[in-house]
Amino acid sequence: MTDPEPDPPPPAYVQVALNLPLRREFTYAVPAGVVVRPGNRVRVNFHGRATGGVVVAVAATTDLPPARVKPVESVLDDESTMPQPLLELARRMAATYGCSLGEALDAMLPSVAKRRGQRLLPHVELAAPRDLAAQAVLELEDKHQERSRVLRTVLEFGAPMPILDLRRRTNTSDSPWQTLCKHGVLRKVMLAEELEELVPAPEEAAFRHQLNEHQQKAVDAVAGVVRAGAHRTFLLHGVTGSGKTEVYLRILEAVRALGRSAIVLVPEISLTPQTVGRFASRFPDVAVLHSGLTDAERGRQWQRLLQGKAKVAVGARSALFAPVQDLGLIVVDEEHESSFKQDSTPRYHAREMAIQRGEIEKAVVVLGSATPTLESIGKAKRGVYELLTLPQRAGAGRLPKIVVQDLRAEPKEARRAGVVLSRTLLVMMEERLKARDQVLLFLNRRGFAPVLLCPSCGEAVKCEHCSVSMTWHARQGRLVCHWCCHEKRRPEKCATCQHAPMHELGVGTERLEAAVKERFPEAIVARMDADTMAERGAHERVLGAFRKKHIDVLIGTQMIAKGLDFPDVTLVGVVSADTGLFVPDYRAAERTFQLLHQVAGRAGRGEKAGTVVIQTFCPDNYAVQAAANNDYASFVQQELQFRKVTGYPPFARLLRVLAEARQEREAQDLLQAAVKPLRDLPDVEVLGPAPAVIARVKEQWRWHMLVKAFTPASFAAAMAAVGTVEDLATRTCRVTLDVDPSSLM
Ligand code: ADP
Ligand code: ZN
Repeated sequence: MTDPEPDPPPPAYVQVALNLPLRREFTYAVPAGVVVRPGNRVRVNFHGRATGGVVVAVAATTDLPPARVKPVESVLDDESTMPQPLLELARRMAATYGCSLGEALDAMLPSVAKRRGQRLLPHVELAAPRDLAAQAVLELEDKHQERSRVLRTVLEFGAPMPILDLRRRTNTSDSPWQTLCKHGVLRKVMLAEELEELVPAPEEAAFRHQLNEHQQKAVDAVAGVVRAGAHRTFLLHGVTGSGKTEVYLRILEAVRALGRSAIVLVPEISLTPQTVGRFASRFPDVAVLHSGLTDAERGRQWQRLLQGKAKVAVGARSALFAPVQDLGLIVVDEEHESSFKQDSTPRYHAREMAIQRGEIEKAVVVLGSATPTLESIGKAKRGVYELLTLPQRAGAGRLPKIVVQDLRAEPKEARRAGVVLSRTLLVMMEERLKARDQVLLFLNRRGFAPVLLCPSCGEAVKCEHCSVSMTWHARQGRLVCHWCCHEKRRPEKCATCQHAPMHELGVGTERLEAAVKERFPEAIVARMDADTMAERGAHERVLGAFRKKHIDVLIGTQMIAKGLDFPDVTLVGVVSADTGLFVPDYRAAERTFQLLHQVAGRAGRGEKAGTVVIQTFCPDNYAVQAAANNDYASFVQQELQFRKVTGYPPFARLLRVLAEARQEREAQDLLQAAVKPLRDLPDVEVLGPAPAVIARVKEQWRWHMLVKAFTPASFAAAMAAVGTVEDLATRTCRVTLDVDPSSLM
């Protein structure tokens, strides 16, 4: 009898990536009898503190003196680990965005997996009768404004509210709710996490249409590459209503027929029962991952995917990290959406990471949009992506007729009343409402008026903590800072010159709603924005009522701009096309064009013809013109010209460095030191350092610089020269590195 091969010795040491901005991994010892594999989540002691991390490598020995190596404290999941390709993706994310491996891994894991076994979540609920609580909101608002805000939010939510959500929504710490508990107004309760699934709407089942010629061509091209098992990126440029979803569904069929899995990314905002219904009706094995999911539900979906019980993941940005096996396809729908960029560390872009994951796992990537970004269309033109086009609306819908309404031509009285609804728009609304059709009014600004101004001295009410003016919210009777959530009561008089009363300047959705109700008293009007959607389930309720035609006019912010497909909407009014046009950002025109085009795309999706009225003070602006003429190509041509001259993407790659400190000097000095090694780099240009557009937020002074690199090599050199957050930040000055920034404010 021969000796059996001896088993390799069990790993005695592991390398752990910690969720901290540190550019290296740490060695820990594996206690006897414990099984650890790469991809396992572990808890370890780091400088006396229990810290979570992920095992990235195992070894039998270590070079360190064994006595100095601490043991792993616990392994959080033993039966299932993070798949190997996701570890590789995390490495690439860290390299691309200048974060640590631990931070990248942390962004990829559902939080329940980080805290396994914890099934009860802290909530707060009302402990006092509703009317007393409402009274307390008023009494607290002067002296204890955060407490007042917290209590009001719980009241509005109308159910026990997870404390994490409460803190996020009110931008507060634990202390306000804790004090309210002490005073007997709120009570903390541990509740089992509720399974809040995004239920597919059965009336949204996607009918399996006979594909038209363009759709068929697109499906064939992609399915061919899927069958070949290769990686390639396609850009599907299809006008609004051209049936992109049906194309995705057919490609999915091809992927599933091979037994492979797929991930479909959609912007959070269009992740509605409508979207889910379209996918779920055709694929029974869909896992839906959206931000409203409780941790428990997210964790359950993650397990289903890991075990292969679900093969198609549909979700927002982070669904890209769904642990599916044998990935064949990633769809990024509405690839131009800025919500695919995460706005906290790690600041990754899901589109870029999708392509990286496709490369690692030999999967096909399909980017879809009616208004592809200049970066994507640029790559398609250079042959980096393969371009597919759907030039016409599918089925019965036709592209809407678009009218540009020059607001300069409106009589002065119309403007003085505050709300500008042009005669053209009013006449059309009347007509459509009479015909029992539905109307969408779009205005990308919430609240009643964005500024409260003294007509005598011109002083506006500013936030005490930020350098922005406060928005007047009439229903709440409050001025609100949209940057830090600080609120205050409307001053009786101007604090500067004592003149009274203050003047409401500009229009928000709340003011628009009031004006429409006054003008059309018979119509049922609803508003959809962050303020009216505070109650749980409100989003689904309003869209459901709109579908059933219980609502005639729906007013909203970008929440209503995309994805909605309602056949009886025959009129869309863009109340102001200009809100984003003067934002100091090189993408102002691109964003305006995209938004106008998307909003316009909501009209005329059924058999009835649609009309869009775009109100503007800048009718000659090229973004407005191109949107009005449905002319993506000419917009791209002009915009590329502008980008080339000014040296912005796609002709340069950007890195933004932001420094924030209580002492302005500190932020300034830090950047002035950081910019030095960049000055002499070839093919690199630096704008700043300079104060950020919003120079102060929450008492922190903000300075930034924008690094432009004109070649991949110079970008890498610039990243290296800047260094890491770990190198730059100090105890009192926070630093943010943002690669391909989506906001420059
Ligand atoms: P997009 O996502 O491109 O804006 P959708 O996928 O929402 O467009 O499709 C618009 C409408 O056209 C939907 O109501 C869809 O059911 C319908 N549709 C899609 N493909 C076809 C087709 N080949 N024939 C008829 N109708 C179609
Ligand atoms: Zn503020």
